[in-house]
Amino acid sequence: MEGTSSPLDAEAVADLVLLDPLTEESLVRTLQERFRRHDIYTYIGNVVISVNPYQSLPIYTPEKVEEYHNCSFFAVKPHIYAIADDAYRSLRDRDRDQCILITGESGAGKTEASKLVMSYVAAVSSKGEEVNKVKEQLLQSNPVLEAFGNAKTVRNDNSSRFGKYMDIEFDFKGEPLGGVISNYLLEKSRIVRHVKGERNFHIFYQLLAGASPQLLQQLKLRQDCGHYGYLNRESSSLPGMDDAANFHTMQDAMRVIGFSPAEVTELLEVTAVVLKLGNVQLSSSFQASGMEACSITEPQELREICQLIGLDSSTLEQALCSRTVKARDETVLTTLTVPQVSRTTLSRGNAASLTGLNTPLSPQVKSDEQRKVMGVLDIYGFEIFQDNGFEQFIINYCNEKLQQIFILMTLKEEQEEYVREGIQWTPVEFFDNSIICNLIENSTTGILAMLDEECLRPGVVNEDTFLTKLNQLLGTHKHYESKETQNARHVTDTSLPARCFRIHHYAGKVTYNVTGFIEKNNDLLFRDLSQAMWAARHALLRSLFPEGDPQKVSLKLPPTAGFQFKSSVAMLMKNLYSKNPNYIRCIKPNDTKSAMVFTPELVLAQVRYLGLMENVRVRRAGYAFRQLYGPFLQRYKMLNPRTWPRWDSGDREGAEVLLAGLAFPAEELAFGHTKVFIRSPRTLFDLERQRQE
Ligand code: ATP
Ligand code: MG
Repeated sequence: MEGTSSPLDAEAVADLVLLDPLTEESLVRTLQERFRRHDIYTYIGNVVISVNPYQSLPIYTPEKVEEYHNCSFFAVKPHIYAIADDAYRSLRDRDRDQCILITGESGAGKTEASKLVMSYVAAVSSKGEEVNKVKEQLLQSNPVLEAFGNAKTVRNDNSSRFGKYMDIEFDFKGEPLGGVISNYLLEKSRIVRHVKGERNFHIFYQLLAGASPQLLQQLKLRQDCGHYGYLNRESSSLPGMDDAANFHTMQDAMRVIGFSPAEVTELLEVTAVVLKLGNVQLSSSFQASGMEACSITEPQELREICQLIGLDSSTLEQALCSRTVKARDETVLTTLTVPQVSRTTLSRGNAASLTGLNTPLSPQVKSDEQRKVMGVLDIYGFEIFQDNGFEQFIINYCNEKLQQIFILMTLKEEQEEYVREGIQWTPVEFFDNSIICNLIENSTTGILAMLDEECLRPGVVNEDTFLTKLNQLLGTHKHYESKETQNARHVTDTSLPARCFRIHHYAGKVTYNVTGFIEKNNDLLFRDLSQAMWAARHALLRSLFPEGDPQKVSLKLPPTAGFQFKSSVAMLMKNLYSKNPNYIRCIKPNDTKSAMVFTPELVLAQVRYLGLMENVRVRRAGYAFRQLYGPFLQRYKMLNPRTWPRWDSGDREGAEVLLAGLAFPAEELAFGHTKVFIRSPRTLFDLERQRQE
C-alpha cells in the first residue's frame, strides 16, 4: 500500500503524531528524511505539512488524482490531494462546509498549494458544460489576481503581496456554482517604492512587455520600463518569467471571468495612469508669506493622464498641489499627494479586479440553503524580520488569531469525536493565546485601539506619544515590553532599542519599531484628490472613488487601516469558525530556492512559527491514534490466535478480543462506537513491531 516507506517507519513517520520521542529535533529530522525521499507531505493527524520541493515532482498527474479520489485518507501516502479529497467529500456527502487554511512564510508554497486544491476539486467534481464554465472561471481567477497582487521579492519571484480568501460555492450535488474572493492588506507601499532586487506588481511589466504598439499608443505609454520611475530599472525582466506571455494569459483570463472588452480597457487605463503618475513630480517651496507653493515638473505626463481619464488637467493639478486644510492633515506635506493618489488608485484598482471577478461568478438563481461552501485561505505566515513595522504587526496579529482559532477548533473537534464515539474525555492543558490577541485587539486598552486614539487626537500626534501611552497602559502586561518598561523593571537588555515595543507572540518575541505606525494607520487620501478623481469621465475611476462625490461628503473620518483590518479579521474568523477546518502548513526548506537542499535551522524556525509542536501535542492530547474497527482488525488480526486467520463476529468484538490477548495497560486503549483509540504512539509501534515479527 505504500511506496518507499511504511507509515510507521520510525525514521520517517508519515504522521508526526506518532513521533517518539517528540522533540523539535526529532520533528525536523523526520521532515528532513522524508524530504530526502521526495516525500514532501507529512501529516499531523489530518493537518498536512508541505515542504517546498523547488522542483516539479511527478505527483500531480491525472493518475495521482485518480489514486486519491475516493481513497481512504490513511491508506495512501500523505498528499495535498488527500486533504482536498477528504474536505470535498465531507462537504458533498456529509453536508459540512469546509475551510482550508494554508499558512507559511513567503516562498513556502502557499499559493501553489491553493491552486493544487482548486484544480483537484475541479478535476473530481462532475463535468458538464455549465459546471465546466464555472470551474474555468474559478481557475482563471489566479492569473488576474497574481498580475495585480503579486511581485518579485527577494524571497519569492512570484510573491503574493496580499492575503486571499476564496469561498467556492457548490450545489447540493457537489457541483461548483461560483466563488467569492476577498483580499486582505495589499502591500500598497510597493506601488511607489520597492527595495533593490525586487519589482513592482507584475501587471506593469506585463503591460509594457505584452501590449501591442496600438494599445501602448492608446494608453499613452512607452514600452521602455526604464522610463517609469515606479519600475525597477535593473531587473525589469526575470529569468523564467515571460511577462509578455503572461499579459496575454491575464487578458484571456479576464475575458473568461466575464470582463467586457471595455472593462478590460478601463482597468488597463487605470494601470497606465498609476504608472504615469510616478513620473509626475511636485516641487514645493515655502513662500515669504509662510504659504506653501507647489508646481508640477512634468506637465506633459499630467496632461496625458488627464486625457486618459477625461479630466481637465487644471483640476488634477490643483488637487495635487493644494488641499483643504483640516486639523488632521496638518503634518502632511503636499509632496506626498502623488504617492498617495497612486497607492490608492492601484490598490482600489486591484480590489476592482476582484470585484469584476465576484459579480459574474456569483451564483444567481439557487437559493441559500442549497449551497455548500469550501473556503480557501492563502495568507502570509508569521513574520519576524530584522526591522518589523506596522505591516508585520498586522500580519502577526492575524496569525495570532489563526493560531487561536486553530487551537479552539482542533480541541473542539477532538472533543466532538470523543462524544460521538462515546468515550471518556479529559480536557487537556494548552497554551491559550487569547491574552495576546486581547493585548492587540481589545477595544479600549488594546494596541490597535490606542493607535486609533492617537490618530484621531487633535494636536501634535506622533509615534512617541503613542509609545508613551502604550507604556503607561500596558507596562505591566506579561506579553508586552519596551525600553521604558524594562528600565522600570530594572531589566537590562541591549537588544531592545528605543522607539520600539516588543510582543511575546505564541511563536516568539517580535520587536516592532513604531516609526510609520501613525501614517500607515491613517491611510488618508485628501478629500480634494478623491473629488478630482470622481470628477473624471471614466466609469471605473469614478467607481473607485465613491467618497469623491460632493453629494455624499460626510464629515465622518474614514476608518483607519488598523480598524478595517481588525474588522475584516473578525469577519474572517467568524466565517472560518462556522466551517470544518483543514490545515496545510507550508515550509520553505532553504533560502536559495534550491531543490534537494534542506537547512535544519531554517526549518526549525518555521516549525516554531507554525506552532507545530503544540499542534502535535493538541492532536495527541487524548489518543494519538484512532482507526475504524474493520481496517484495524484486518491489519493486526494475526497477533492473536483467536482472531487469526478468521474472525467471524463483529469487527468491534474482534478488535476487543485481539487487544485483550496482548496485555496492554487498560488506559492505553479505548473502544468507541466505530473506532478503536490508542493513547500513546509507543503502543502502536509495539503492535506494528509484533506484526512484523
Ligand atoms: P508568498 O507568501 O511570497 O506569496 P507562497 O508561500 O505563496 O509565497 P508560492 O508562490 O506558492 O509561495 O511558491 C514559491 C515557488 O516555489 C513557486 O513559484 C514554485 O517555483 C515553488 N513551489 C511551491 N510549491 C511547489 C510544489 N508543490 N512543487 C514544485 N514547486 C513548488
Ligand atoms: Mg503566495
